[in-house]
Amino acid sequence: MQLEERIQHVNERITAACKRSGRNREDVGVIAVTKYVSTAMTSKVLDHGLIHIGENRWQNAEDKWNALHDRGIWHFIGHLQTNKVKDVIGKFAYIHSLDRLSLAKEIEKKAGQVDLQVECMLQVNISGEESKYGLEPEEVVPLLKQIREFPHVHITGLMTMAPFEEDAERTRPVFRGLRELRDDLNRQALTNQPLTHLSMGMSNDYEVAVEEGATWVRLGSVLVGKEED
Ligand SMILES: *Cc1c(COP(=O)(O)O)cnc(C)c1O
Repeated sequence: MQLEERIQHVNERITAACKRSGRNREDVGVIAVTKYVSTAMTSKVLDHGLIHIGENRWQNAEDKWNALHDRGIWHFIGHLQTNKVKDVIGKFAYIHSLDRLSLAKEIEKKAGQVDLQVECMLQVNISGEESKYGLEPEEVVPLLKQIREFPHVHITGLMTMAPFEEDAERTRPVFRGLRELRDDLNRQALTNQPLTHLSMGMSNDYEVAVEEGATWVRLGSVLVGKEED
């Protein structure tokens, strides 16, 4: 499939998932994950009006960001090493993978130096898979209470990754679990403003994630593709 067809295919499926679950299509944002493709392909993606670009490592993103940063809104979605925070602050509008206090402190420090507020999501390991990064669900409340004191770190929601499943339906409990955790945190009113975002759903499972309330889906292979074409 060509890029245009893939975009149409994904859009139709997101729209259908919204219909099935009684959601508004406008409440689901699409992040085009460009980690598998070149700067030229990323430029094409932007040409097609997909302006939210996701990358999981600064080393992969650097050339694309340097060439194209004015044209997109950049999301950092991968595991973030503390010593790499300096590279992403001021470049990425969103960090989806905040998963520990030491990282929050470094973001606060570097964002404070340039007087920026960084929009972050807390990554939570809902599935309990050992290979996944992310906070244990019970670690979220204590961390939120600490981050509340950080004026340059603005937590707007939660992020998770589901295990790969042949049958995407089996990922549903993970996405539902993230939504229930967000709703529970909002009932406890731990943040100044309610947590609104759920960053969940990838190529294999985004339709289920949308049905369960995703506000950002992060799509690489199904949308952007894996190589030039
Ligand atoms: C690579 C990646 C994605 C997109 O993966 P696809 O399965 O190709 O859609 C989404 N989220 C994160 C955190 C990733 O690293």
